[in-house]
Amino acid sequence: MSLSSLEGSLHRGCGGRYAQHTERVTVRLSGMAAEVDRDFFRCEKCGHEQRTIEQRDAAEKSATEQIRAANGLLSPKEIRQLREELGLTSAQLADVCYGTPRGIVAGWEKGRYLQNRDADALLRSLRDPEVFEYRVGRAGVVPAGREAVGGEGAAVEVAGEVDAPSTDDATAPSYRDSTAP
Ligand SMILES: [Zn+2]
Repeated sequence: MSLSSLEGSLHRGCGGRYAQHTERVTVRLSGMAAEVDRDFFRCEKCGHEQRTIEQRDAAEKSATEQIRAANGLLSPKEIRQLREELGLTSAQLADVCYGTPRGIVAGWEKGRYLQNRDADALLRSLRDPEVFEYRVGRAGVVPAGREAVGGEGAAVEVAGEVDAPSTDDATAPSYRDSTAP
């Protein structure tokens, strides 16, 4: 049973019937925005409108795809592949992206959250071995297949050379559908 089938259903308030319509809305995600078509139901008799979770989710999904394409952001699959290539768990990847909650990083891979441009740039920067070593060293993370090093800072010799992006604010996503009706 899905709420997405309000089509033809009764509006008890007036005895009219709901029919599906489409509206153009702006969906904002992680500081970026996309214009998408969103379905909604309107009572043909009194004009009462209803927007279901399914309709909102569909619009958000479409906005996510549009924003991802427009900004060239890594896909959830690409983020997972990158993490696996680096030998990190998603919790470790979160630690390497200082200040990013672990659930957010896991959400990037599930497509539940959309990384903003700064977070995306940070993820890509990890492909650079110097940046990667610097960040895992600072985070105290030991990638899979490596021995834990005893001494602090053993893996951070390149620290001074690296211009690591600052992400304290950048990686905190705002993932609300802030569309105005
Ligand atoms: Zn009505």
